[in-house]
Amino acid sequence: MSFQNPVFIPGPTNIPEALRKACDMPTIDHRSPLFGQILHPARVGVQRILKSTSAEVFIFPASGTGGWETALTNCLNAGDKVLAARNGMFSQRWIDMCTRHGLDVQVVETVWGEGISAARYEEILTADKGHEIKAVLATHNETATGVKSDIAAIRAAMDAAGHPALLFVDGVSSIGSMDFRFDDWGVDVAVTGSQKGFMLPAGLAIVGFSARAMDATKTASLPRTFFDVADMKKGYANNAYPYTPSVGLLNGLSEACRMLEDEGLENVFARHTRIATGVRAAVEAWGLKLCAASPDVYSDTVSAICTPEGFNATDIVTHAAETYGVAFGVGLGEVAGKVFRIGHLGSLTDVMTLSGIATAEMCMVDLGLDIKLGSGVAAAQEYYRANSVAARKNAA
Ligand SMILES: *Cc1c(COP(=O)(O)O)cnc(C)c1O
Repeated sequence: MSFQNPVFIPGPTNIPEALRKACDMPTIDHRSPLFGQILHPARVGVQRILKSTSAEVFIFPASGTGGWETALTNCLNAGDKVLAARNGMFSQRWIDMCTRHGLDVQVVETVWGEGISAARYEEILTADKGHEIKAVLATHNETATGVKSDIAAIRAAMDAAGHPALLFVDGVSSIGSMDFRFDDWGVDVAVTGSQKGFMLPAGLAIVGFSARAMDATKTASLPRTFFDVADMKKGYANNAYPYTPSVGLLNGLSEACRMLEDEGLENVFARHTRIATGVRAAVEAWGLKLCAASPDVYSDTVSAICTPEGFNATDIVTHAAETYGVAFGVGLGEVAGKVFRIGHLGSLTDVMTLSGIATAEMCMVDLGLDIKLGSGVAAAQEYYRANSVAARKNAA
């Protein structure tokens, strides 16, 4: 069996050696002050990564999906109206979860490849004079299509409408890789997981709650036990969980925050932008198009690349795995078979990315697409040469 890294899937991402070691811990008593020394630095670290001074951070043994459920069940009541845009598989799954919890979802159907329309949200919220809508959902980075949405614009739309709904943001594939501003954007609940920007194995749902979201928990009546933030808060006050925590992953999480901060958050974001721009240069050199409709929505963590009509994009992913031992992401939902995805987030360098671009190129040539070997690699190399040198000079 081959465990070749790097992987180019948009999560789970490559795990740096230091983080693998940090997760590998002997057993400790998870109801002791010693556990507090692992738990609290992880929570404070996450708060800083969220660019917040006040968010209450809760960390569950779950995945990002559990974070979605934490947001909904702790803040809402059965039958509550929520507003959400559907522009990819992840926003779709969150909407499906709302429906299963008996929420009344007003869905803004959005072309897969486009971002959330803040203008459309504003119209709907302005028309909602009775403030029936209790929460606005936004997927910051739609991992299925490689599309980012403008959360600041959504907050501005909510404010312009004078609407008091809570703002829930899925930042699973953006937090820790792309700029995310919990406080500035007035986010009420931010959701992420351990296995994307935090470069850890899957296993943690990570959420930040605003003071308003914490207030909403007092009257929210949707059933919750495992994901109850009030139980969790009581536990934290005693350096404990209401159940058994993933101690090793929590230790990894505080180490991950330290790594991101050692590099400098803005440098981390700039690295993701640079790597992504190189990938996009390669896509252009191949003569292919991104699923993302326009540069303002291009994601810096994942690129979904459209293949020509009549070609099954999933074949590239299968061939890459079977022939070269390299993992890319398949298309999901409406774009299954139409796109393949290069994940470029987490622990990745320009040079590692070149190997992914080279592999994608070989696969496409092997499968008969009219692509010139080396064309995408050269385009990315040119970009990285010019911009990595500049980045290094700036850092010095
Ligand atoms: C990966 C992902 C999720 C789901 O997270 P899991 O950890 O797989 O439960 C949700 N939203 C987005 C945007 C994602 O990229």
